[in-house]
Amino acid sequence: MAERKVRVRFAPSPTGALHIGGVRTALYNYLFARQHNGDLIFRIEDTDSHRFVPGAEEYILESFKWLGIHFDEGVSFGGEHGPYRQSERREIYKKYVQVLLENGKAYIAFDTPEELDAKRAEIANFQYDASTRGMMRNSLTMPKEEVDALIAEGKQYVVRFKIEPNEDVRVNDLIRGEVIINSSILDDKVLYKSADELPTYHLANIVDDHLMEVSHVIRGEEWLPSAPLHVLLYRAFGWEDTMPEFAHLPLLLKPEGNGKLSKRDGDRLGFPVFPLEWHDPKSGDVSSGYRESGYLPEAVINFLALLGWNPGNDQEVMSMDELVKLFDLNHCSKSGAKFDYKKGTWFNHEYIMMKPDAELAQLFKPVLAANGVDAAAYSDVYLAKVVSLVKGRVNFVKELWDQSRFFFAAPTQYAEKDVKKRWSEDTPRIMGELITVLEGIADFSSKPSEDIVIGWITEKGYHMGNVMNAFRLAVVGECKGPHMFDITELLGKDETISRIRSAVEKLG
Ligand code: GLU
Repeated sequence: MAERKVRVRFAPSPTGALHIGGVRTALYNYLFARQHNGDLIFRIEDTDSHRFVPGAEEYILESFKWLGIHFDEGVSFGGEHGPYRQSERREIYKKYVQVLLENGKAYIAFDTPEELDAKRAEIANFQYDASTRGMMRNSLTMPKEEVDALIAEGKQYVVRFKIEPNEDVRVNDLIRGEVIINSSILDDKVLYKSADELPTYHLANIVDDHLMEVSHVIRGEEWLPSAPLHVLLYRAFGWEDTMPEFAHLPLLLKPEGNGKLSKRDGDRLGFPVFPLEWHDPKSGDVSSGYRESGYLPEAVINFLALLGWNPGNDQEVMSMDELVKLFDLNHCSKSGAKFDYKKGTWFNHEYIMMKPDAELAQLFKPVLAANGVDAAAYSDVYLAKVVSLVKGRVNFVKELWDQSRFFFAAPTQYAEKDVKKRWSEDTPRIMGELITVLEGIADFSSKPSEDIVIGWITEKGYHMGNVMNAFRLAVVGECKGPHMFDITELLGKDETISRIRSAVEKLG
């Protein structure tokens, strides 16, 4: 058989914010598609109208835009296999439901919810399947005329898949190997409901994967139980030759303890489980997002890529292009991946360190504005230098402010405990001398100023720590920050001296 073109899809249901696990699924599909010069499709599975949430589709699209995951076709991207929104494909599904009915692979059932409940009460572990369908109200047990009459009358019905019992259904999973399930444990799934004239997830999913020529279905482990049914549906249609390969990704687990990662874990431990901030239109609740929390998209991508996959060695920092080269479904783990959110913070720090200072400075501008600083009053070169001096101390862009505020305003207060420790009676006199020394420095850049000031302290026999810390206290407002002479170089001679003067005035 000729090699098939790789075509994969990400097919969310627009039921709310996209969970971070869904983002990982989309990422793996994207990496796989790019690696094989294939196509990535964005399909919206909105056949369950009760669960539709306005804004969800836009939210999902914006998330991928931010993360740099691009689609080749689909909702909002166009393409030749559309429409890509399932609610716009009703007629297509109706046609295929008819095909199954005609070749005896499906049947019509009239049982009302009450009748089904009654059966459940009567028969323990009731399941609508080969063992029970003979006693239910359906087109297998009723004469054709009666069925037609009921339909003509407008009675509601569903179409069920007629699953043959006692058959071992094999699913070849690229991650899990062969998974075998006996068809007797499956129920006759509802494929279509006359009430809303819509197919259920299973039918729409298979028909679309087929028509959209999907070659690989890469999705979360929670869909593994549906896979045997999907295999049977492909067969019922006679499409086994184009059946996609399956790969079910491991679950994302709680950072600590057992079980699936949930939004509550995020709330409790203080990390987002959504890519972007989400405003729930119904409850009004706001959930935090990676973007608004200050994560860089590259860091989020790198972090997610390693939740369930590794490159086969201990390399951790990988760009999107490297991930495309290295990604391999064979290196995905079968067991769940612990959501180590602290690792996410670590990645963010790494990506901040790798980012060119000029770019980081641009990201810092809105933070400055939020803190009342007119960023336009500073040159890009100045801002880039500032961030270069403090970025090693932060995990998030917004934390740059706390580390660098003294570059934008002279201190108005001085940290009390530092004053107590470093500002003694003799300090104003020594600071006066320091001012004279600084005034005499011709080249105020870091190294030459350092040599001169240190030389003076040594020559005078002053206490190095006390003098330098008092100097820092006067300039910064507290005894922390980057290398002192890198600070003074950037502030310049006049500003440095004026800060020492005002500290002497204020602290006496
Ligand atoms: N609509 C399903 C979801 O929300 C798609 C599952 C699949 O990929 O088959 O994840």
